Amino acid sequence: MPEAPPKPEELVQISYDPARADWRKTRVDFQKGTFCYSAAAKNLRYLDLPNPRDWQPFEEDWKLPPNWKETILKGMKERLEKFRSFRLFMDICVRCGACADKCHFFLGSADPKNMPVLRAELIRSVYRRYFTLGGRIFRGLAGGRELTEDVLKEWFYYFYQCTECRRCSVFCPFGIDTAEITMMVRELLNLVGVNTNWVLEPAANCFRTGNHLGIQPHGFKDSIDFAVDELEEITGVRVEAPINRKGAEVLFIVPSADYFGTPHYYTLLGYLMLFHEIGLDYTFSAYASEGGNFGLFSSHEMMKRLNAKMYAEAKRLGVKWILGGECGHMWRVVHQYMNTMNGPADFLEEPVSPITGTRFENARATKMVHICEFTSDLIHNNKLKLDPSRNDHWKVTFHDSCNPARAMGLLEEPRYILRNVSNHFYEMPENTIREQTFCCGSGAGLGTDENIEMRLRGGLPRANAVKYVRDRHGVNLLTCICAIDKATLPTALEYWVPGVEVGGIHELVGNALVMKGEKERTTDVRGEPLQQKEAVVNA
Ligand code: SF4
Ligand code: SF4
Repeated sequence: MPEAPPKPEELVQISYDPARADWRKTRVDFQKGTFCYSAAAKNLRYLDLPNPRDWQPFEEDWKLPPNWKETILKGMKERLEKFRSFRLFMDICVRCGACADKCHFFLGSADPKNMPVLRAELIRSVYRRYFTLGGRIFRGLAGGRELTEDVLKEWFYYFYQCTECRRCSVFCPFGIDTAEITMMVRELLNLVGVNTNWVLEPAANCFRTGNHLGIQPHGFKDSIDFAVDELEEITGVRVEAPINRKGAEVLFIVPSADYFGTPHYYTLLGYLMLFHEIGLDYTFSAYASEGGNFGLFSSHEMMKRLNAKMYAEAKRLGVKWILGGECGHMWRVVHQYMNTMNGPADFLEEPVSPITGTRFENARATKMVHICEFTSDLIHNNKLKLDPSRNDHWKVTFHDSCNPARAMGLLEEPRYILRNVSNHFYEMPENTIREQTFCCGSGAGLGTDENIEMRLRGGLPRANAVKYVRDRHGVNLLTCICAIDKATLPTALEYWVPGVEVGGIHELVGNALVMKGEKERTTDVRGEPLQQKEAVVNA
């Protein structure tokens, strides 16, 4: 069992004094709470990945294949030839240090190998040794490093202490994207069977049943039916939630946590209310019942295959375009990789809102519209009747989830919606939001319990900014548009900033939405009495 993390007052004692030891000679110490467990052999077998076996990172013998070193170097060579960005990022860093203090893991741990520049140097030194002339001749003198088992273990430890959030890249004058380097190293580690269960089990489940949790179609339907019944109790309105309906105009895809997790589920209720109210011709799919793509945390090939599933289902159902929910990495894959990996989705139509007539030209290639784009367009065109006072029990702030913010530039739409559904919206400090947003500390497959200390350390900068608005404005709800944020920020906030809950934007839309034929609302979608909650907050 994972041990409880140290108390906040202990964990916050962080010394940034430079380490005295030579970083090249410091071995990784796999301390409890700071790493993820290995992937179960059954998941490797399911995904057809090499070297399935029982092992754990804290054990001395990782049971690597005998030719592991050749496999990694061959994999590196292939990727240096295939990905121009990889070779570029290996070559152009001038070690200016602008990125050094921008990573939440460095800020929360003071471990120099969590500086993005040094994190990248862990592989760059191997690149120099084996793939540059100077390194092949002068080795260590040219900054090269032998690839040893200790180096491999170091890669595993530190490239699974990177959430691929890309904050560092915002500050790099050369645009070096450490997240891309992390993705490449994880892909290399996969070649010799070094991977984590928290990444591969959801991926295996997704291949098997269509979603991370491995829920089968009847379980998926039960969950949606339950939500419909619950909404009727709250609003008096019976909504429809079609599943696998061929010929619908729109396929709606969300992260599976929206069906099965809390507080995600309240966001799902908001979507259902919205779609009913505007009469959207849409369908869910029990097979594309997951927008999240853990392939992004594992390999390009897996990312491509998981993304393809959504589009195959859109084709099968004969929809015109896809609407996507509040998810993080689904959007990074769709916006940054899909066109080159899966090709443009030419069999779908350029999305046009059937309610407002707005043509989403930004989605011309992907044919996929973000729910915040869709809803803000509805509000802008006066298509929704909203009563923001129904959210008066919440003092709200907004956490820009890394991928929608940095990977797709979705900065204004969530704020526009929030200002229309809430009377009390407060921004966190400028250098912690929008493109400069701080990661939750648990993305990219790091959100497991055994990794709790490192998650809390990584979550400290975000929590610190939340504390600022809690103490100054009484903020008691952090909203976000990512399923991983919704799953992991409650733990980080409870630890660092008690009294602040986590919710989705469309949860607040659902609260504020005045539906035709509704009964008098006495509760929010969480089932909390509106008046009673106000009384508590005002007390
Ligand atoms: S991508 Fe994010 S987690 Fe990774 S090194 Fe950069 S700032 Fe740190
Ligand atoms: S900011 Fe860019 S160039 Fe400067 S050290 Fe970091 S990665 Fe290298």
